[in-house]
Amino acid sequence: MDNLTNMPDCNSGADSFEAGLKLKCAFCTSPCVSRDLGTKLRDAGLRPTRQRMELAKLLFGKGDRHTTADMLYEEAMRVEIPVSLATVYNTLQQFTNAGLLRRLATDTAKAWFDTNVSEHHHLLMEEDDCIVDVPSGYLSIDHLPPLPAGMEIARIEVVLRLRRRED
Ligand SMILES: [Zn+2]
Repeated sequence: MDNLTNMPDCNSGADSFEAGLKLKCAFCTSPCVSRDLGTKLRDAGLRPTRQRMELAKLLFGKGDRHTTADMLYEEAMRVEIPVSLATVYNTLQQFTNAGLLRRLATDTAKAWFDTNVSEHHHLLMEEDDCIVDVPSGYLSIDHLPPLPAGMEIARIEVVLRLRRRED
């Protein structure tokens, strides 16, 4: 594993999108984020309330990303979206139940959510509050165990937990 320079940055996602948030739909150049997100929510069976739409803009407005409720709440505060931490958490749960997000199997104190719901693996740097995707093509799993009769693997999700080296 030597060519990881193209990995997404942990903090990507929020900053350059903030400027665009306050644009009204009438001024959108294509594609219109608001209209697309409304459709995305409705297609998932969720009513596009104002709070859901604002949080969806933060979550889905700029590429795939990983977040916790705390991180999304802080972002919402920065762009003056009036929501409580509880609302952020509930919304993340609702989006997850609707299949728009995936809750990662990190087993950490904080729940991590991923906007990329396809099967992929992660590097977790817990000390730094950071998760990034393992670039595709890097992790393959051999020697899978025999499965009980009638069962198949629904999903394999690997989390590599990293810590800082002592040297
Ligand atoms: Zn991911």
